[in-house]
Amino acid sequence: MKIAILGAGAMGCLYGAAFHRAGAEVLLIDVDQAHIDAINAGGLELETRAGTEMLPIPALRPDQLDAPVDLVVVFTKTFQTDRALGGIAAAIGPDTQLLSLQNGLGNDRRLAEHAAPERVMVGASTMPSDLIGLGKVRSHGEGGSRLFPAFEGEADFAVRVADLLTAGGIPTTADPAIHQVIWSKAIFNAAMNPLCALTLRTPGFLFLHDESRDMIRTVVDEGVGVARASGVMIEAQPIHDLTHVSMTDHANHEASMLQDVKAGRRTEIDAINGAILDAAHAAGLSVPVTETLYRMLRLQDAKIST
Ligand code: NAD
Repeated sequence: MKIAILGAGAMGCLYGAAFHRAGAEVLLIDVDQAHIDAINAGGLELETRAGTEMLPIPALRPDQLDAPVDLVVVFTKTFQTDRALGGIAAAIGPDTQLLSLQNGLGNDRRLAEHAAPERVMVGASTMPSDLIGLGKVRSHGEGGSRLFPAFEGEADFAVRVADLLTAGGIPTTADPAIHQVIWSKAIFNAAMNPLCALTLRTPGFLFLHDESRDMIRTVVDEGVGVARASGVMIEAQPIHDLTHVSMTDHANHEASMLQDVKAGRRTEIDAINGAILDAAHAAGLSVPVTETLYRMLRLQDAKIST
């Protein structure tokens, strides 16, 4: 299978490495020329608990892709998706499948602007990954992924992709309940990430204070109400449980939104709290705490560009 990884950052490199280990023909596509040059010069350096690998995976700019591939895996930030897919139009043929394992809601719709809906797959990853230098990625945690056709597509291709990732070291399943998985993760992120980013603290700090614990509970309950009103039948308790595990077992973990704010980068708040807010409005619901956190992070993001 010929696979283009669109966005060869922290997650793109991690997943590209798994497809490569499983024997797929992988191309890492990115716009960061220095990162591309480093990968092509010495290989992709991937550090995991098992050790450090140097993987000879070619890296290209989008304009260097001139023929259709079998699969495009989108791993840009959510607000970069549309432009990134537009930049590799030559690689998206009539049989090309698109997959997003990005965070947030609405990735299915963004991908369906660039391929027929039956060729769009979505999912979620619980693998952690960090870009630690040009051509260098570190992933020290455990995790896996779940994916499935986003709309009415056949599951066969999703199963093949999941099997490849599992063979390459990332346990992955094709899960028909994929929208429940994606909503649950988005709601968890909506509850935890903005509070970490606004306080500049990790989940352990949030656990120590009634104010944060109350807000986390409320955002989860608001999000679950919106999901159910949108036809995605999930329960709140498993997400409450996950927030508790995050605040206790992963007390010192730096949420990606906290890392973004500290580094002066734009956050993915639009695809997380913003998307839940949009769905709430469509369903005629009010989600005041989710909305306030969304507005606070929008202000934070505005500081970057003004
Ligand atoms: P990242 O910023 O490390 O990587 C994004 C890459 O996309 C960058 O290398 C960037 O240069 C590239 N890019 C930007 N515009 C592009 C374009 N037009 N064409 C090609 N490439 C382009 O981000 P990440 O941490 O890998 O996150 C990617 C997605 O995965 C996000 O939605 C994130 O929420 C999700 N995610 C991340 C983690 C994690 O631990 N890092 C875990 C789960 C999910």
